[in-house]
Amino acid sequence: MATHLGDVIMSAKPYVHTLSQSNRTVNCSSCVKSCDALKKCSKCGVLKYCSVSCQREDWTVHKEECSYLQRVSPNIPVDSVMLMLRLIIKHKQRDFGKPDSSNDTWNRNFADFKTHKKEIQQDPERMSQFSQIMFTLQKLVGNSLPPATEIFDIFCKMAVNSFTICDGELNPVGVGIFISPSLIDHSCEPNAVVTFTGKTLYLRALEEIKDPNPENIRISYIDQLALTSDRQDQLYKQYYFTCVCTRCSDGEKDKKMRSVKCQNCCLGNLEKDEDGFLPCKECGCSLNSTDLPRINKYENYICRSLESLKLEKKFQDAAKLLQSCIDCQQKQKDYFSSYNIHCLQILDLGLDASIDCENWSQALSYTSLLIAPYRLYYPHQSPQIGLLLMKQGKIQLFLKLSKEALTSLQQSGEIIQITHGRDHPLYRDSQDLLEQCMEEMRMTLEFSNS
Ligand SMILES: [Zn+2]
Ligand SMILES: [Zn+2]
Ligand SMILES: [Zn+2]
Ligand SMILES: [Zn+2]
Repeated sequence: MATHLGDVIMSAKPYVHTLSQSNRTVNCSSCVKSCDALKKCSKCGVLKYCSVSCQREDWTVHKEECSYLQRVSPNIPVDSVMLMLRLIIKHKQRDFGKPDSSNDTWNRNFADFKTHKKEIQQDPERMSQFSQIMFTLQKLVGNSLPPATEIFDIFCKMAVNSFTICDGELNPVGVGIFISPSLIDHSCEPNAVVTFTGKTLYLRALEEIKDPNPENIRISYIDQLALTSDRQDQLYKQYYFTCVCTRCSDGEKDKKMRSVKCQNCCLGNLEKDEDGFLPCKECGCSLNSTDLPRINKYENYICRSLESLKLEKKFQDAAKLLQSCIDCQQKQKDYFSSYNIHCLQILDLGLDASIDCENWSQALSYTSLLIAPYRLYYPHQSPQIGLLLMKQGKIQLFLKLSKEALTSLQQSGEIIQITHGRDHPLYRDSQDLLEQCMEEMRMTLEFSNS
């Protein structure tokens, strides 16, 4: 049976999952939802739960884990060790998980997972991660660990099959292993999308899929806002394959991601392929011999600035970061088109910083520059576009631009109901904002009539 736009192809609970370290104090270890009144496990004091039923659900695996954590508490192992520990407990319980659909094409369990063992053995970074994990596991579990070869097998499966569990706004909260969804391959031009409600994974169609079996479904494992070479590097480094999707082969979007502004007419953009810059689409001019070195100089400058901006972001001084983004944007705005990948990264950083600083007019200038490139580089119905429009709608509401906010929020709602579903809290938030927007428009109308 064919699947249509927004249909849920499959939902799945994790086989095992764990919260990220930074979320352990604010999210429930079982359902992963954020909660103000979490209660600690009284035995280990490490994991926290929002309710007795959540704690009970987690107990099948936490029971054994709890005794190990007590040995090292208050030191909590890193996320990868926590996930490995849970996989080992399942392995000891001889529980390999069940398929998430009764349809035969989705039939598998953890024992069937791909390992990429050879590639991992030749990957020094992964091998050193494995030794560190082994070292901590020995401290935690001691003599009751399975043989090292079995642990390595589990490690390999974990390394190439994990899903990052995100909240509705795509912030990572944890990591999990999902049995049937791990069958789905990657494409940089996906026809389906994964979002989460709590820890439950939902796979939804982004277009009509005639026969929705794993062979015909593709999701994107990585952020699509990157050049082909960078996406390919990331995919190989993390999953050991080379993507051959149409976007990776035709390089069309890369030309735009490398584009610069025409220095002659100042209206058109000059796209760039492997051989260099193409003539301006508006005036037909090419870059001259003085423009080219200047563009190269600015490209170097912008790359260096991006590195330091990303570093600044870690120190979390939003006001300082925003000022640096504005300076950087000012310096490069005559050279790079707003479709240029470097420019987009600055705009993204600037948007977050301006929201943190509650500088709404600045934030709006960023969202309005980001929307067209997002629509070009992400699939039409992608959570990234839905969220950007929702942010824009909120900003416009703060600025009392109710009419503009209405348009942004309506467009955002249309996308979010496809990517997250109408039952998702994020969709309800977007509808509340829409309501608020209409209320403000009614009040303005009454005020002007009176
Ligand atoms: Zn819970
Ligand atoms: Zn415990
Ligand atoms: Zn690709
Ligand atoms: Zn031109």
